[in-house]
Amino acid sequence: MDLADTGMYQWIKGLGNNCVLQPLWDCLRLNYTDWLRSPLFPVILTVSSYFVLCLPFLICDIMGEKWMWVQQFKIQPSRRPTASTLLHCAGVTLHNNVLLVLPASVAQWAWRPPVDLPECAPSLLEVIAGVIGNLLLFDFQYFIWHLLHHRIHWLYVTFHAIHHKYSAPFALATQCLSGWELVTLGFWTTLNPVILRCHLLTTWIFMVLHVYVSVEDHCGYDFPWSTSRLIPFGIYGGPSKHDVHHQKPNTNFAPHFSHWDKIFGTHAEFSFSSAMK
Ligand SMILES: [Zn+2]
Ligand SMILES: [Zn+2]
Repeated sequence: MDLADTGMYQWIKGLGNNCVLQPLWDCLRLNYTDWLRSPLFPVILTVSSYFVLCLPFLICDIMGEKWMWVQQFKIQPSRRPTASTLLHCAGVTLHNNVLLVLPASVAQWAWRPPVDLPECAPSLLEVIAGVIGNLLLFDFQYFIWHLLHHRIHWLYVTFHAIHHKYSAPFALATQCLSGWELVTLGFWTTLNPVILRCHLLTTWIFMVLHVYVSVEDHCGYDFPWSTSRLIPFGIYGGPSKHDVHHQKPNTNFAPHFSHWDKIFGTHAEFSFSSAMK
Protein backbone atom coordinates (compact mmCIF):
# COMPACT_ATOMS: atom_id res chain seq x y z
CA MET A 1 0.00 0.00 0.00
CA ASP A 2 1.28 3.43 -0.94
CA LEU A 3 1.94 5.55 2.18
CA ALA A 4 0.40 8.60 0.46
CA ASP A 5 -2.96 6.77 0.24
CA THR A 6 -3.31 6.08 3.98
CA GLY A 7 -5.82 8.03 6.05
CA MET A 8 -3.17 8.87 8.67
CA TYR A 9 -0.87 10.37 6.03
CA GLN A 10 -3.70 12.49 4.60
CA TRP A 11 -4.66 13.61 8.13
CA ILE A 12 -1.08 14.68 9.01
CA LYS A 13 -0.78 16.44 5.62
CA GLY A 14 -4.07 18.25 6.34
CA LEU A 15 -2.71 19.58 9.67
CA GLY A 16 0.04 21.48 7.88
CA ASN A 17 -2.25 22.71 5.10
CA ASN A 18 -3.54 26.30 5.18
CA CYS A 19 -6.57 25.35 3.04
CA VAL A 20 -8.45 23.71 5.93
CA LEU A 21 -9.07 27.00 7.77
CA GLN A 22 -8.98 29.31 4.73
CA PRO A 23 -12.79 29.29 4.06
CA LEU A 24 -13.51 30.13 7.72
CA TRP A 25 -10.84 32.85 7.76
CA ASP A 26 -12.06 34.34 4.45
CA CYS A 27 -15.64 34.41 5.74
CA LEU A 28 -14.53 36.21 8.93
CA ARG A 29 -12.13 38.72 7.40
CA LEU A 30 -14.30 39.63 4.40
CA ASN A 31 -17.62 39.96 6.27
CA TYR A 32 -16.60 41.33 9.68
CA THR A 33 -13.47 43.38 8.85
CA ASP A 34 -14.24 46.45 10.99
CA TRP A 35 -15.29 44.37 14.00
CA LEU A 36 -12.22 42.13 13.86
CA ARG A 37 -9.78 45.05 13.43
CA SER A 38 -11.19 46.93 16.41
CA PRO A 39 -9.10 46.96 19.63
CA LEU A 40 -12.37 46.20 21.43
CA PHE A 41 -12.84 42.84 19.66
CA PRO A 42 -10.51 40.76 21.94
CA VAL A 43 -12.21 42.26 25.03
CA ILE A 44 -15.73 41.54 23.73
CA LEU A 45 -14.60 38.03 22.70
CA THR A 46 -13.10 37.14 26.08
CA VAL A 47 -15.77 38.76 28.31
CA SER A 48 -18.69 37.26 26.35
CA SER A 49 -17.05 33.82 26.16
CA TYR A 50 -16.40 34.03 29.93
CA PHE A 51 -20.08 34.43 30.80
CA VAL A 52 -21.22 31.92 28.13
CA LEU A 53 -18.71 29.30 29.34
CA CYS A 54 -19.63 29.90 33.01
CA LEU A 55 -23.32 29.36 32.24
CA PRO A 56 -23.45 25.50 32.09
CA PHE A 57 -21.60 25.23 35.43
CA LEU A 58 -23.79 27.96 36.91
CA ILE A 59 -26.91 26.00 35.92
CA CYS A 60 -25.42 22.88 37.60
CA ASP A 61 -24.90 24.92 40.79
CA ILE A 62 -28.43 26.36 40.67
CA MET A 63 -30.05 22.98 39.97
CA GLY A 64 -28.08 21.43 42.87
CA GLU A 65 -29.52 18.13 44.10
CA LYS A 66 -32.29 18.17 41.50
CA TRP A 67 -29.54 16.94 39.15
CA MET A 68 -28.10 14.07 41.21
CA TRP A 69 -26.19 12.63 38.23
CA VAL A 70 -24.23 15.88 37.94
CA GLN A 71 -23.72 16.20 41.68
CA GLN A 72 -21.73 12.93 41.82
CA PHE A 73 -18.91 14.89 40.11
CA LYS A 74 -18.96 17.82 42.61
CA ILE A 75 -15.49 18.09 44.16
CA GLN A 76 -16.72 19.49 47.50
CA PRO A 77 -20.30 18.17 47.54
CA SER A 78 -21.26 19.74 50.85
CA ARG A 79 -20.32 23.26 49.73
CA ARG A 80 -22.37 25.13 47.17
CA PRO A 81 -22.27 28.83 46.24
CA THR A 82 -25.19 30.90 47.50
CA ALA A 83 -27.10 33.42 45.37
CA SER A 84 -25.28 36.30 47.12
CA THR A 85 -21.79 34.82 46.42
CA LEU A 86 -22.71 34.31 42.74
CA LEU A 87 -23.97 37.89 42.46
CA HIS A 88 -20.89 39.23 44.27
CA CYS A 89 -18.51 37.49 41.85
CA ALA A 90 -20.49 38.54 38.74
CA GLY A 91 -20.47 42.13 40.10
CA VAL A 92 -16.67 42.11 40.70
CA THR A 93 -16.09 40.80 37.15
CA LEU A 94 -18.34 43.39 35.53
CA HIS A 95 -16.85 46.17 37.68
CA ASN A 96 -13.26 45.26 36.68
CA ASN A 97 -14.08 44.87 33.00
CA VAL A 98 -16.18 48.04 32.69
CA LEU A 99 -13.93 50.31 34.79
CA LEU A 100 -10.47 48.96 33.88
CA VAL A 101 -10.30 46.68 30.85
CA LEU A 102 -12.78 48.58 28.66
CA PRO A 103 -11.18 52.05 29.15
CA ALA A 104 -7.71 50.53 28.54
CA SER A 105 -8.97 49.01 25.28
CA VAL A 106 -10.69 52.23 24.16
CA ALA A 107 -7.48 54.16 24.93
CA GLN A 108 -5.64 51.91 22.46
CA TRP A 109 -7.61 53.58 19.65
CA ALA A 110 -5.74 56.80 20.39
CA TRP A 111 -2.25 55.40 19.88
CA ARG A 112 -2.51 52.08 18.07
CA PRO A 113 -3.78 51.73 14.48
CA PRO A 114 -6.33 48.93 13.88
CA VAL A 115 -4.61 45.59 13.19
CA ASP A 116 -4.23 44.35 9.62
CA LEU A 117 -5.93 41.06 8.77
CA PRO A 118 -3.56 38.80 6.77
CA GLU A 119 -4.97 37.16 3.64
CA CYS A 120 -3.76 33.65 4.47
CA ALA A 121 -5.25 31.50 7.24
CA PRO A 122 -2.92 29.61 9.60
CA SER A 123 -2.57 25.84 9.15
CA LEU A 124 -4.19 23.59 11.77
CA LEU A 125 -0.67 22.63 12.91
CA GLU A 126 0.18 26.32 13.49
CA VAL A 127 -3.04 26.77 15.49
CA ILE A 128 -2.39 23.70 17.68
CA ALA A 129 1.30 24.60 18.25
CA GLY A 130 0.39 28.26 18.94
CA VAL A 131 -2.32 27.37 21.47
CA ILE A 132 -0.09 24.87 23.32
CA GLY A 133 2.86 27.33 23.25
CA ASN A 134 0.69 30.13 24.67
CA LEU A 135 -0.75 27.89 27.40
CA LEU A 136 2.76 26.72 28.42
CA LEU A 137 4.16 30.27 28.45
CA PHE A 138 1.23 31.64 30.45
CA ASP A 139 1.48 28.69 32.86
CA PHE A 140 5.11 29.58 33.61
CA GLN A 141 4.43 33.33 33.99
CA TYR A 142 1.43 32.83 36.26
CA PHE A 143 3.25 30.19 38.36
CA ILE A 144 5.99 32.75 39.27
CA TRP A 145 3.50 35.61 39.67
CA HIS A 146 1.11 33.53 41.78
CA LEU A 147 3.92 32.17 43.99
CA LEU A 148 5.17 35.73 44.69
CA HIS A 149 1.64 36.89 45.60
CA HIS A 150 1.39 34.10 48.17
CA ARG A 151 4.92 34.43 49.60
CA ILE A 152 4.96 38.26 49.92
CA HIS A 153 2.34 39.16 52.49
CA TRP A 154 1.71 42.70 51.18
CA LEU A 155 1.05 41.41 47.66
CA TYR A 156 -1.29 38.73 49.03
CA VAL A 157 -3.47 40.98 51.20
CA THR A 158 -3.49 43.87 48.71
CA PHE A 159 -4.16 41.99 45.47
CA HIS A 160 -4.69 38.24 45.74
CA ALA A 161 -6.72 37.66 48.94
CA ILE A 162 -10.02 38.51 47.20
CA HIS A 163 -9.59 35.41 45.00
CA HIS A 164 -9.21 33.22 48.11
CA LYS A 165 -12.45 34.43 49.69
CA TYR A 166 -13.98 31.13 48.54
CA SER A 167 -12.28 27.85 49.52
CA ALA A 168 -14.78 25.81 47.44
CA PRO A 169 -14.42 27.27 43.92
CA PHE A 170 -17.29 27.70 41.46
CA ALA A 171 -17.25 28.96 37.85
CA LEU A 172 -18.00 32.62 38.58
CA ALA A 173 -15.14 32.75 41.13
CA THR A 174 -12.67 32.48 38.19
CA GLN A 175 -12.62 36.24 37.61
CA CYS A 176 -13.37 37.23 41.19
CA LEU A 177 -10.02 39.02 41.12
CA SER A 178 -8.53 42.37 42.05
CA GLY A 179 -8.32 44.85 39.17
CA TRP A 180 -4.50 44.57 39.25
CA GLU A 181 -4.64 40.79 38.86
CA LEU A 182 -7.17 40.90 35.99
CA VAL A 183 -5.15 43.55 34.14
CA THR A 184 -1.83 41.63 34.49
CA LEU A 185 -3.46 38.38 33.36
CA GLY A 186 -5.02 40.21 30.40
CA PHE A 187 -1.63 41.79 29.60
CA TRP A 188 0.10 38.39 29.33
CA THR A 189 -2.79 36.84 27.42
CA THR A 190 -2.51 39.69 24.89
CA LEU A 191 1.29 39.93 24.79
CA ASN A 192 2.19 36.22 24.57
CA PRO A 193 0.66 35.59 21.11
CA VAL A 194 2.65 38.64 19.87
CA ILE A 195 5.89 37.22 21.37
CA LEU A 196 5.16 33.84 19.77
CA ARG A 197 4.22 35.57 16.47
CA CYS A 198 0.84 33.85 16.27
CA HIS A 199 -1.72 34.44 13.54
CA LEU A 200 -4.76 36.46 14.72
CA LEU A 201 -7.04 33.43 14.33
CA THR A 202 -4.67 31.38 16.54
CA THR A 203 -4.65 34.24 19.08
CA TRP A 204 -8.45 34.38 19.28
CA ILE A 205 -8.76 30.58 19.53
CA PHE A 206 -6.16 30.63 22.34
CA MET A 207 -8.02 33.43 24.16
CA VAL A 208 -11.34 31.53 24.14
CA LEU A 209 -9.67 28.22 25.09
CA HIS A 210 -7.78 29.96 27.87
CA VAL A 211 -11.03 31.36 29.25
CA TYR A 212 -12.51 27.82 29.09
CA VAL A 213 -9.64 26.10 30.96
CA SER A 214 -9.60 28.89 33.58
CA VAL A 215 -13.36 28.51 34.15
CA GLU A 216 -12.98 24.71 34.21
CA ASP A 217 -10.21 25.03 36.85
CA HIS A 218 -12.72 26.79 39.12
CA CYS A 219 -15.96 25.04 38.15
CA GLY A 220 -16.01 22.81 41.26
CA TYR A 221 -16.83 19.67 39.23
CA ASP A 222 -14.43 16.94 38.06
CA PHE A 223 -16.38 15.60 35.08
CA PRO A 224 -15.13 12.57 33.07
CA TRP A 225 -14.45 14.98 30.18
CA SER A 226 -12.33 17.37 32.29
CA THR A 227 -9.15 18.44 30.48
CA SER A 228 -7.04 16.79 33.21
CA ARG A 229 -8.73 13.43 32.46
CA LEU A 230 -8.35 13.80 28.69
CA ILE A 231 -4.60 14.61 28.91
CA PRO A 232 -2.76 11.53 30.30
CA PHE A 233 0.07 10.99 32.83
CA GLY A 234 -1.01 13.79 35.20
CA ILE A 235 0.54 16.39 32.86
CA TYR A 236 -2.43 18.69 33.29
CA GLY A 237 -3.82 19.83 36.68
CA GLY A 238 -7.44 20.77 36.04
CA PRO A 239 -10.32 21.40 38.46
CA SER A 240 -9.37 18.98 41.27
CA LYS A 241 -5.80 20.34 41.43
CA HIS A 242 -6.88 23.98 41.51
CA ASP A 243 -9.57 23.09 44.06
CA VAL A 244 -6.71 21.92 46.34
CA HIS A 245 -5.06 25.35 45.90
CA HIS A 246 -8.21 27.03 47.22
CA GLN A 247 -8.29 24.60 50.19
CA LYS A 248 -4.51 24.64 50.87
CA PRO A 249 -3.26 27.96 49.43
CA ASN A 250 0.47 27.07 49.70
CA THR A 251 0.17 24.34 47.07
CA ASN A 252 -0.53 24.06 43.33
CA PHE A 253 0.41 27.54 42.10
CA ALA A 254 0.51 26.71 38.38
CA PRO A 255 -2.85 27.38 36.72
CA HIS A 256 -2.87 24.62 34.12
CA PHE A 257 -0.01 22.11 33.95
CA SER A 258 1.59 20.14 36.82
CA HIS A 259 5.32 20.27 36.02
CA TRP A 260 6.29 23.58 37.75
CA ASP A 261 4.68 22.56 41.05
CA LYS A 262 6.37 19.15 40.84
CA ILE A 263 9.78 20.76 40.15
CA PHE A 264 9.43 23.31 43.00
CA GLY A 265 7.89 20.84 45.50
CA THR A 266 4.53 22.63 45.78
CA HIS A 267 2.45 19.94 44.07
CA ALA A 268 -0.42 18.45 46.11
CA GLU A 269 -2.84 15.77 44.96
CA PHE A 270 -6.56 16.04 45.55
CA SER A 271 -7.78 13.96 48.49
CA PHE A 272 -11.45 13.09 48.80
CA SER A 273 -11.36 13.16 52.62
CA SER A 274 -10.25 16.81 52.76
CA ALA A 275 -12.97 17.75 50.26
CA MET A 276 -15.64 16.21 52.52
CA LYS A 277 -14.67 18.38 55.54
ZN1 LIG B 1 -8.39 30.16 41.73
ZN1 LIG C 1 -3.72 31.78 45.06
